Amino acid sequence: MAYVIAEPCIGTKDTACVDACPVDCIHPKKDEDKHADSEMLYIDPAECIDCGACVPVCPVSAIFALDDLPEKWAEFADKNAAFFGR
Ligand code: SF4
Repeated sequence: MAYVIAEPCIGTKDTACVDACPVDCIHPKKDEDKHADSEMLYIDPAECIDCGACVPVCPVSAIFALDDLPEKWAEFADKNAAFFGR
């Protein structure tokens, strides 16, 4: 189980979540090559410890526990994992 970033992040990429994450599992960060070209940020499902710290800091409420991910954004679980080749 991991947290998932969904559609509201597209075009937003606020990165407050990056600073809040204790295990540095949200990418691409501002200083990473892929940041400019990526439409959104993603959570590595293999590294996320399900702490929830990223959820309240997101200005567009784009982050959900997998169990709470709205059905209309269900594909974002795979999209987050795919960014990390998982
Ligand atoms: Fe990072 Fe915690 Fe959010 Fe997972 S739930 S992405 S570990 S801040």
